[in-house]
Amino acid sequence: ENTGDNPRRVLLKLSGEAFGGGKVGIDTSVIRRIAEEIVPAVQQGVQVAIVVGGGNFFRGAELQQAGIDRSRGDYMGMLGTVMNCLALQDFLEQEGQATRVQTAITMGQVAEPYIPLKAIRHLEKGRVVIFGAGAGMPYFSTDTVSIQRSLEIHCDEVLMGKNGVDGVYTADPRKDENAKRFATLSYNRALVDNLAVMDAAALSMARDNKQRIRVFGLEGAGNVTRALLGKEIGTMVST
Ligand code: UDP
Repeated sequence: ENTGDNPRRVLLKLSGEAFGGGKVGIDTSVIRRIAEEIVPAVQQGVQVAIVVGGGNFFRGAELQQAGIDRSRGDYMGMLGTVMNCLALQDFLEQEGQATRVQTAITMGQVAEPYIPLKAIRHLEKGRVVIFGAGAGMPYFSTDTVSIQRSLEIHCDEVLMGKNGVDGVYTADPRKDENAKRFATLSYNRALVDNLAVMDAAALSMARDNKQRIRVFGLEGAGNVTRALLGKEIGTMVST
């Protein structure tokens, strides 16, 4: 964990679902808006690393249902995340924001390989670093990678940007009108009650290493900037 006078450094997790706007492929208006909301936070000195999911293209588990070998499907899923990274990179660069994409699967023409110390250096220079291709390993998720990367590059917290929900609720707010949003929540409660923070592997890694997680909604105007700046929003998950 980053303590003392160091600048704030965060890892923003963006789900692929958000990038797709509910469809397969990308919704450029959504990605452009997210890019526009990232820039002001960087300008105020926040160091921003990003992990992008790929659910708007492929999920290995779903491809497996359709008869594709699980690992191969997972690799297809990882490659999908890279397309999302490039789209986000482009909109950030259009805003004048310097960026680097680093991928866990080497593809030199498209992105740098994942080199943690280099990622830290980019962040210190005010560049946004976007991590693609997950962990480069089947049977992992981009949620798990978000926690892992955030720990390795010493982020203060992980910001989970969600689509269609603005925090963690006692029940699914889309199905239960009595569902209440938590302002704060413990790792154990989230794990035991199976609350929609992230998958259990990711959440237990966060718990074991005491990495704070803020779950917030991507949709409201200005929410991404607020979360990056460390404003009160959504649900904070900690010990
Ligand atoms: N994936 C993987 N290993 C990783 C990260 C991702 O195998 O380290 C694959 C997996 O098939 C997953 C897909 O890539 O379903 C897309 O990632 P994810 O489902 O985490 O994206 P999101 O749900 O955030 O859009």
